[in-house]
Amino acid sequence: MPRPIQAFVHTHALRHNLARMRAAAPDTRVWAVVKANAYGHGIERVFEGLRAADGFALLDLDEAQRLRSLGWRGPVLLLEGVFEMRDLELCSRLDLWHTVHCDEQVDMLSRHKTQVPHRIFLKMNSGMNRLGFTPTRFRSAWTRLNQLPQVDEISLITHFSDADGSKGVAEQMRVFAKTTEDLPGERSTCNSAGLLRHANDAAVATDWVRPGIALYGSAPDFPERSIAHWDLQPTMSLRSRIIATQDLAVGDTVGYGSSFTAETPMRLGVVACGYADGYPRHCPTGTPVLVQGVRTRTLGRVSMDMIAVDLTPCREAGFDTEVTLWGKASTGEVLPIDEVAQAAGTVGYELMCAVSSRVGFTQD
Ligand SMILES: *Cc1c(COP(=O)(O)O)cnc(C)c1O
Repeated sequence: MPRPIQAFVHTHALRHNLARMRAAAPDTRVWAVVKANAYGHGIERVFEGLRAADGFALLDLDEAQRLRSLGWRGPVLLLEGVFEMRDLELCSRLDLWHTVHCDEQVDMLSRHKTQVPHRIFLKMNSGMNRLGFTPTRFRSAWTRLNQLPQVDEISLITHFSDADGSKGVAEQMRVFAKTTEDLPGERSTCNSAGLLRHANDAAVATDWVRPGIALYGSAPDFPERSIAHWDLQPTMSLRSRIIATQDLAVGDTVGYGSSFTAETPMRLGVVACGYADGYPRHCPTGTPVLVQGVRTRTLGRVSMDMIAVDLTPCREAGFDTEVTLWGKASTGEVLPIDEVAQAAGTVGYELMCAVSSRVGFTQD
């Protein structure tokens, strides 16, 4: 028997979340962002649930290749573009669209030998200061690209730094719109937060939006908003089982460092899940967890392979009882990944990307 911990990827939830993203901007095409192996879910495991997207956006050429192997013939966009000359060969061979965000990428394209010109997404740095040409350099980059025989259609893309917060997207959108005013080509803006919070402004929704995290059932603006507010469903559930129980007397402590002390007699369950499975070690006592679908809390420090949970509200629980670390219990109750992430001082993105390779995945 393998250890009882397992991750589940819910196809129906992916479909539901994708439909929600479409509804948020009905006249826009949707890139399903599947970078980082589909936010830790596995490209192959999300493909069925997300295949109604208009295209897939990612970073790794290896992942693009896997999408093509799954039979996807539609658009694939490399969000960071190419890293070296030979990546362009693969773009030609697999018909990948790619971002161009710096002069070096234009240079590489100009030296690339291809029969079929490439579809390019030229990236503007409108304030994020990560990738892209600044507004003052953007037009000359466009002109240079436009003269290359290797280049087919040029689309225009930018990325928001504050779509989830109070600063919003208005200033970046203004810069992007003004700089590109008289340039032809499709526009792409909006990550999940941009789409959910700002796409009611038609100018912001553009031709292509790029939701990632919301497709996977995490609210991009938690704790201000929750997945319940946005009507999103968890797509990943991390479940395990209780492998031991202990009865504590007043004054007994739990785990390494004895960081939890019982103030009343109580019973705890030891769960086969630890930081080596990707459960964050930073989760303190009190992190929410579902035992048999009943909400309770963790006790003491997370260790490599185990974690203790309070069985006070779950009298029936014992050896082999199901525990849901995040996502949906098999009885249907939901513990949003965002609540666990918050307890660990991080975001849902990091948790779903960090489930370790020793955890088996099942698609349902
Ligand atoms: C990751 C990424 C997205 C998706 O962002 P979410 O916050 O997960 O929706 C969109 N655009 C670009 C350029 C990205 O790198």
